[in-house]
Amino acid sequence: MVPPKGKDTRMSFVVPPLETPSLAVAGSEDRFPVRRIFCVGRNYAAHAREMGNDDREPPFFFTKPADAVIAGGETAPYPPQTEDLHYEAELVVAIGTGGRDIPEAQALEHVWGYALGNDLTRRDLQAVAKKMGRPWDLAKGFDSSAVLGPVHPVAEVGHPARGSIRSSVNGEVRQDGDLSEMIWSVPEVIAFLSQSVALRPGDLVMTGTPAGVGKLEPGDDCTVEIEGLGRMVTPIGPRS
Ligand code: MN
Repeated sequence: MVPPKGKDTRMSFVVPPLETPSLAVAGSEDRFPVRRIFCVGRNYAAHAREMGNDDREPPFFFTKPADAVIAGGETAPYPPQTEDLHYEAELVVAIGTGGRDIPEAQALEHVWGYALGNDLTRRDLQAVAKKMGRPWDLAKGFDSSAVLGPVHPVAEVGHPARGSIRSSVNGEVRQDGDLSEMIWSVPEVIAFLSQSVALRPGDLVMTGTPAGVGKLEPGDDCTVEIEGLGRMVTPIGPRS
């Protein structure tokens, strides 16, 4: 339709649109725009077992909304409707080049960088959802549930496939795993996921957590660290 002469043709939204969520880029003033956040369930054998599952299931995915992102160092409000907020330390893959049906051998070419992640989880709501066969969305995708550190470009850190991944609460180590313990490697995860959806630049993949998940309380400081990617501390705020 041709707009009437003199009419302002700029898009006007009836409510404020989402501003593009973004992550810091390590060592730069630039930002990494966040498009979607895919998360792999049960990707470390010992964690799969601690959650009562077989460790040879194919990978499965859930998502968090892009605007659930908060940066490492920011306070995560203790979310409503839970008595069992859990931390999950994760390696996060930042996709730079999209694609469908990406072959495993080419998968790493699609990665722009890597970041630290903490997949905050309302474990009690997740347990109910599992039992009732309901979706995990509100157990996993609540406000401020995706704690993410700066993106480290592949040019700087390469493709971390081994090395320590740890979390601690108030200085006490809770998870102490190694990236090499992932059941499905980063290239395998990208290959699987791109068979299901077309990956796009800005997509993030949280690659699962090692054993040792547990509870956070208001006032706790939760630290996530991965060898080569530094560490981030998340203070847990009061119940909101
Ligand atoms: Mn997770």
